[in-house]
Amino acid sequence: MELESLNRECPVLYVVVPCYNEEEVLPETAKRLREKMRGLVAAGEIDRKSRILLVNDGSRDRTWEMIETLAKADPLFGGVKLSRNRGHQNALLAGLMTAMPLSDCTISMDADLQDDIGAVDGMLKEYKAGSDIVYGVRSSRKTDTFFKRFTAEGFYKLLAAMGVEVVFNHADYRLMSRRALKGLSSFREVNLFLRGIVPQIGYKSSTVTYARAERFAGESKYPLKKMLALAWDGITSFSVKPIGLLLTLGILLTAGSAVAGIVCIIVHLITHALTGTAAILVSIWLSCGLILSALGLVGEYIGKIYGEVKNRPRYIIEAVTLDPGKESEPIQTEESGESDSAL
Ligand code: UDP
Ligand code: MG
Repeated sequence: MELESLNRECPVLYVVVPCYNEEEVLPETAKRLREKMRGLVAAGEIDRKSRILLVNDGSRDRTWEMIETLAKADPLFGGVKLSRNRGHQNALLAGLMTAMPLSDCTISMDADLQDDIGAVDGMLKEYKAGSDIVYGVRSSRKTDTFFKRFTAEGFYKLLAAMGVEVVFNHADYRLMSRRALKGLSSFREVNLFLRGIVPQIGYKSSTVTYARAERFAGESKYPLKKMLALAWDGITSFSVKPIGLLLTLGILLTAGSAVAGIVCIIVHLITHALTGTAAILVSIWLSCGLILSALGLVGEYIGKIYGEVKNRPRYIIEAVTLDPGKESEPIQTEESGESDSAL
């Protein structure tokens, strides 16, 4: 028995779009999304109750007024207004959690039309074939500036080196089923890095590739400062490797200084030529090594505490096959000794 029944044939789809100061792109984005959703409803691909959910992340321009107007004019649109700017990841989560009880699946995408709306078809196809998470993966970064491409790809490589499980070249354009969202909701951490959390949820997942376009209008709401903050969150929320490095470095330093100390003593015994400087240097390095090892050791415990504090779910059950109401058949005992030996 599946714990969650999802409509796979004609699902209720919620497209969740976080918007921060997006008045320049919103009319065009709304128009294109409306066309897409109407087409899908007409083709019987998605349920009529499907919606486009626009999340206003404390914009200072007319974004929220525009969302309200859209929602008033067409029930296809819905809006969520955050009380202040909380950043892309939080805005996205707010939208997804609002959509969770109302939908079979959600697709999250940016407001600036960089994510190819055409990929929605491929995502739905994968969902209908049984995937619970479908990652939108960029086929190329030709439209990005050299700087953006360099920093973004470096970021994915660094994350991989730190042992963080992420899908290469996947941002936050993805489909998630309701049960995948329920899994996501059991991650209680506040330092959100959705790209790192989502692969931990499990379930069947697949990818759909698309070409990323240039921003339709306006400028990026992710300046270098926000990008670095996101990268830092990604590493420090998912990896305690830096602490491990500290401990390794400390041990190496201690061991190296100890060896150097022994060499100094031997040289002194043989040649009687060594000055006090060598002894002082060795003791400085040895102390540094010991202090660093101690810090690393304390860090290991802090890493463990950090893991506990995050209070992540230990498991998510996908299905259970068990019938508690049915009585089990009594074991048939055979009279003849032959069948006993057959066992
Ligand atoms: N965004 C948001 N809150 C923020 C910053 C950005 O909701 O504080 C939204 C923004 O409106 C857009 C998406 O996050 O829909 C991605 O931002 P952007 O396109 O500026 O990032 P880039 O594509 O340059 O990385
Ligand atoms: Mg963008």
